[in-house]
Amino acid sequence: VSGLQVDVAIVGGGLVGAALALALSRLSPTFRQRRIVLIEASDVQSGSLDSTVYSPSFDSRATALADSSVDSFRRLGVWDAMARVAAPITQVHVSEQGRWGATRLQAEEQGRAAFGYVVLNSGIGQVLLQEVAVERCITFMSPARVSSLQPVPDGMQVCFDGGLAPLEASLVILADGGRSPLMASLGLGVTRKPYGQVAIIANLEPSLAPQGRAWERFTRDGAMAVLPLCDHAGRSRVALVWTLPAELADTTLALSDGDFMAAVESRFGQRLGPFRWVGQRAAYPLELVIAKEQARPGLVLLGNAAHTLHPIAGQGFNLSLRDAMALATHLHTVQEGVALGESAVLQQFVVRQKPDQLLTMLASDALISIFGSSSGLLRRIRQAGLISLELLPGLREKIATFGMGSSLQSAGTAQQSVK
Ligand SMILES: Cc1cc2nc3c(=O)[nH]c(=O)nc-3n(C[C@H](O)[C@H](O)[C@H](O)COP(=O)(O)OP(=O)(O)OC[C@H]3O[C@@H](n4cnc5c(N)ncnc54)[C@H](O)[C@@H]3O)c2cc1C
Repeated sequence: VSGLQVDVAIVGGGLVGAALALALSRLSPTFRQRRIVLIEASDVQSGSLDSTVYSPSFDSRATALADSSVDSFRRLGVWDAMARVAAPITQVHVSEQGRWGATRLQAEEQGRAAFGYVVLNSGIGQVLLQEVAVERCITFMSPARVSSLQPVPDGMQVCFDGGLAPLEASLVILADGGRSPLMASLGLGVTRKPYGQVAIIANLEPSLAPQGRAWERFTRDGAMAVLPLCDHAGRSRVALVWTLPAELADTTLALSDGDFMAAVESRFGQRLGPFRWVGQRAAYPLELVIAKEQARPGLVLLGNAAHTLHPIAGQGFNLSLRDAMALATHLHTVQEGVALGESAVLQQFVVRQKPDQLLTMLASDALISIFGSSSGLLRRIRQAGLISLELLPGLREKIATFGMGSSLQSAGTAQQSVK
């Protein structure tokens, strides 16, 4: 495709970029005649679910998919494949180490099959890329790293590292996870709120099967989420997301496997018996990052490039997938003769998504402030919070399932529907 004019160039073939490419080609027949290019810097194999791929979107992290994401994947025709590697969350336990006030939620009691589904990022990514490979209107370039984006009269010029010829696109979607220097080179600023914490993630094998249970546990150092995963080779697995003060990250990562599992057990308890195995650990510094502009003529920011949230609320991908589906639907309505990259078209999308984005960001941030702090006052509010969660089912449903990836709107809807 290099040297050509295309309609849409998506920079970043991570979870969000790949989902958008599929949404553009599958949500309406109008786009099948268009040319979409999906550009991924990593060398990603899209051939087989068993292949090992290395990309931030395709690592050993797990994502809790909310109802909105499952619906979206159904509409894209990929849910059946994903469901084979997805573990349903049928119960949520919320507790605080050393304190009274645990709350327990059952999906069945809320009239739902599951609060959400946990899938390894590698599983989501590989299903999406397998489907991308069969779409004739999408060209997947990997490995190909975009080195610069330059506005031109009818869109943007996309230049590459390594001697690939540039291409021109009517619309560029920047879905690089905020990982490349492209935003800075375009003068696109961000607002950052560092939380002074890291999230350590790891997959573990417990002695007892999680049986659909997920835990959110607030410990003295930070919040810990333990989510059920699909069995692997007949062995149970859970995904751990453990937020810790940044200064404890290195020593925690350097622990031996045995000491790491003991440290997790000392905070999580023996709810799943002793852990038997732990996989590779990784640490992610945590901050709320919001792009100051999400669209310019010929350019839209999507996914982590537009907003990066704290992972303990499990909202980042779910929100970004809602954005991606909305953007695809919006672009499908653009009439022939109107440029896809026209400012008015793109601003309409940004304005439409703002309420969902703001509500999700504010709620994630508030959850961290209340539950992620060790201050005495916040501990007391939190203690009251957990007790009131037990007493006020509407509120506890909203907060606990929000932590499992539900949007506040969908949690509210579920509650109303069982009344
Ligand atoms: C520990 C943790 C747990 C999480 N858990 C959840 C959860 O349970 N639920 C949830 O909804 N969200 C969760 N999230 C958030 C979720 O992981 C992110 O929202 C999601 O990964 C964002 O995807 P993305 O495609 O925007 O960015 P990325 O995953 O960063 O992908 C960007 C892609 O762009 C490529 N790229 C970068 N620069 C270039 C370039 N110049 N040219 C070409 N390609 C480029 C990269 O190689 C990469 O593949 C979690 C996040 C963390 C850190």
